[in-house]
Amino acid sequence: MSEELRKIAKDLLKSEKVGVVIGYAFTKADPKRTTPIFVTDTRDTDKLVFNPLCLNNLTVYLTKKKPEIQEVGRPAVVAKGCDVRSILGLIKEFQFKREDVVIIGVGCEGVVKDFSHWTGKLTRENMASKCLYCRVRVPTTYDYLVGEEVPSIEEQDPFKDVKELLSKSVEEREKFWKNQFEKCIRCYACRQVCPFCYCHRCISDKTMPRWIESSAHERGNFAWNIIRAMHLAGRCVGCGECSRVCPAEIPLDLLNREIEREMKEKFEYTAGMDTETPPPLRTYSEKDDDSWIR
Ligand code: SF4
Ligand code: SF4
Ligand code: SF4
Repeated sequence: MSEELRKIAKDLLKSEKVGVVIGYAFTKADPKRTTPIFVTDTRDTDKLVFNPLCLNNLTVYLTKKKPEIQEVGRPAVVAKGCDVRSILGLIKEFQFKREDVVIIGVGCEGVVKDFSHWTGKLTRENMASKCLYCRVRVPTTYDYLVGEEVPSIEEQDPFKDVKELLSKSVEEREKFWKNQFEKCIRCYACRQVCPFCYCHRCISDKTMPRWIESSAHERGNFAWNIIRAMHLAGRCVGCGECSRVCPAEIPLDLLNREIEREMKEKFEYTAGMDTETPPPLRTYSEKDDDSWIR
């Protein structure tokens, strides 16, 4: 699979169809970890790999927040099915046009929760939770596809843990989230890694007025985490990167998925499945439920 990927990358660079291939390479220090790599020279295409350790959602490098990438030339990006969902969402948000990016889609059996869980074999136990209910193991959109044959797995209900939490009382849920958000150290790794957090100036950095208290304490933490999740409502594609990088191990994906569930239930909308369906929060309809406005 990696060989096929390298050949596509080499051809794209050689023919000058792209200026950079964004993919994965093993780190020098640890062969059990991969890191994003930006290949501009055909001689470096041999470094490209794809395997269950390719965790990053590389589409974070495609937005207008990263003009330095576009300056190198048209990018090609190695994208798993879940990453392609981000690409479709970003096109819908006018971050770039479809023709501005070459998608090297990869058929994907799943990735590990994090590098420390790698035992040399991917199992249901060490697999990232998003992979247990993934419906895009073969990407829906691509220019090139590597590894079309992907073994199927028994899919889990994506909202199982969300429903479990919702079965608790409001007080219990409030306590649960307060305990989680208390751990937040306001490092903003969750923001930096998210393809949809591309604002040039995040609301959390604004000081005139200051909307969110910046120090890591209960009130500011609560506001930050709720605002982050709400700004991603109907946009988050569930790539799970925010949860993966959170040093405090806050289950941000649980919060994201509750909003995803609501979007599906109330608006029959799932983000990142196409570039045409109008996002509900950018659409006015007379049929919208306004019973909550008093
Ligand atoms: S969610 Fe799907 S496409 Fe994404 S890493 Fe898991 S199995 Fe692969
Ligand atoms: S990554 Fe985790 S600890 Fe850092 S700001 Fe986000 S929620 Fe807080
Ligand atoms: S909020 Fe988290 S799961 Fe959703 S798109 Fe951003 S990084 Fe991915």
